[in-house]
Amino acid sequence: MYTLDELKEITHNCKKCRLCNGRTNVVFGQGNPDAYIMFIGEGPGREEDLKAQAFVGAAGQLLTKAIEGIGIKREDVFIANIVKCRPPNNRNPQEDEMQACIQYLRWQVKLIKPKIIVCLGSIAAKNIIDQNLRITRQRGQWVEKKGIKILPTFHPAALLRDEGKKRPFWEDIKEVKRVYEELT
Ligand code: URA
Ligand code: SF4
Repeated sequence: MYTLDELKEITHNCKKCRLCNGRTNVVFGQGNPDAYIMFIGEGPGREEDLKAQAFVGAAGQLLTKAIEGIGIKREDVFIANIVKCRPPNNRNPQEDEMQACIQYLRWQVKLIKPKIIVCLGSIAAKNIIDQNLRITRQRGQWVEKKGIKILPTFHPAALLRDEGKKRPFWEDIKEVKRVYEELT
């Protein structure tokens, strides 16, 4: 079993899928290595690729607001993605790319041992919960796997495109707070 730092080092040299070709940086994810809550997105965008940090662009600012909005500091959670290298032109990650990369995320989850995982958007929710999941139908509904409570919700970037998603997103974030408080 690797430590989180060793795992990070391994991903930095990873060439398991074609996304290694276009990256500036591998975005391992960051935050508290003993976090109670992990937030998982899809993959790095332009800003994330340049800064080697997950969720630091426009969607990231919204995510920060959501986390702080429930009284938690961003540095107390752990934030990562399904794929660690930026897909060209922000296209969706392809099936084989996600298959190649998700093993690292599984390791991260084993090491961090969160009590709660929030899946941000359909791609994260499908890969973590169920390939047939429909985000519009199943967001806000907790699923438990291996003792971890998992909540699918909209991707913050989706709120920027569709105002109507803001309210349900905030309801889900308040659910995270409720369950977090129950656990702590
Ligand atoms: N969108 C994601 O899914 N992940 C990031 O890190 C940034 C934007
Ligand atoms: Fe490796 Fe993941 Fe990057 Fe693909 S996306 S090269 S699997 S770190």
